[in-house]
Amino acid sequence: MLKVVKFGGSSLASGESFEKVKKIVNADPSRSIVVVSAPGKRFSGDNKVTDLLYICQAHIKYNASFDDIFDKIGERYREICHHCKLKQDIDAELEDIKSQFGKKTSVDYIVSRGEYLNAKLMAEYLGYTFVDSASWLVFNYNGKVNFEKSYENLARIYEVTPKIVLPGFYGAMPDGSIKVFSRGGSDITGAIAAAAVNADTYENWTDVSGIMTADPRIVENPRPIENVTFAELRELSYMGAEVLHEETVFPVRQKNIPLYIKNTNDMNARGTLIMESFDEDESEKQTHFITGISGKKNYSIFTIAKSRMNDEPGYIRKTLEIFENFGVAIEHIPSSIDSFSVVVSSQLVEKCMHDIISRITEELKPDNIKITNEISLIAIVGRKLAFNIGIAGKIFTALGENNINIRMIEQGADEINIIIGVDDKDFKKAIRVLYNLSEVEK
Ligand code: ASP
Repeated sequence: MLKVVKFGGSSLASGESFEKVKKIVNADPSRSIVVVSAPGKRFSGDNKVTDLLYICQAHIKYNASFDDIFDKIGERYREICHHCKLKQDIDAELEDIKSQFGKKTSVDYIVSRGEYLNAKLMAEYLGYTFVDSASWLVFNYNGKVNFEKSYENLARIYEVTPKIVLPGFYGAMPDGSIKVFSRGGSDITGAIAAAAVNADTYENWTDVSGIMTADPRIVENPRPIENVTFAELRELSYMGAEVLHEETVFPVRQKNIPLYIKNTNDMNARGTLIMESFDEDESEKQTHFITGISGKKNYSIFTIAKSRMNDEPGYIRKTLEIFENFGVAIEHIPSSIDSFSVVVSSQLVEKCMHDIISRITEELKPDNIKITNEISLIAIVGRKLAFNIGIAGKIFTALGENNINIRMIEQGADEINIIIGVDDKDFKKAIRVLYNLSEVEK
């Protein structure tokens, strides 16, 4: 059994959190590869080390002194070393890095040092071997990860070094220079490492007990999702659920490696398991018919009506082409016989709304165009929706009973989600009503 475990910045913010991580790693001998972020915030209002490094870089760029910021960063690592009684010469390490910064090194090099140093400290603390991610995770010249080579590199290292700590967030370009992923990118490092060594599980440790059924800022204490498929997760995150870095899932999904989201502050909580599919009997037992609910505000609906539209082939295509010409991505196209609607993000049509209307009017001569703004879209996601008769009825009844007007309805052909449109003013209420419904219906 081999597990790759990744800890986020909030799980590594101080010496005390390092202790929790050690406890988790030691609790399971199969946790052999540990991927770490840079120290995150210890309390609200605190700084993430990566943010401080970006500030350092801005000072260097404008030839301003970065001493104070660098001292703040140094303090974070000194506290960890002191608390964990580490032996390595952190001052010498910091001095060395600081002298590199003075040589105007790239942004990517500068901001990657947060993970680099944290991994060195964690390796000593756990008694594992530090392996620099620049030595195995490689990018192509086009800036995309060279998966084949990275997998090969890490697998080779793992053969001779079975207990490893890796810094997340960065790798190396073909010329050896450092390149970082976008923010939050240590999730991806962990997923690539898990795929490289064909891990049995990839555990992503954070500060919540898994992915929540609904946004905790809207629903009080939502239940964590137990099991979610990658397809469901994609729907939930597309509609606003903040879960993982988008690119994370690709390497583990491709190799069918189960991905757990777990809580460093509650190590025995089960967390959320993400897989390609679940044994249906298992999922029958465990899951509610709604896996999760997410949504976003601020959409606009263009409703275009023309009698006998169905006799005019290409009518919808020509309309969509107009949106395309303005670079507007379309979210949904609910339709009826003599009318159809185009749902788009209001932000995308903010500046071209009138141009789009006049082009549709000129070129397609509709009987009527109606624009409805301030619409929220809510996705009710669940792989079991397809097998349950009457679910849609229950959803609409619950919303109706709560005086929520449904402005749009759509169900994908794969039946893993139902999307409804409501007025922005009803957004939070609708999410709460749907959450309560998901709690009672199994
Ligand atoms: N430390 C980096 C960030 O703050 C990467 C990560 O934590 O995943 O974005």
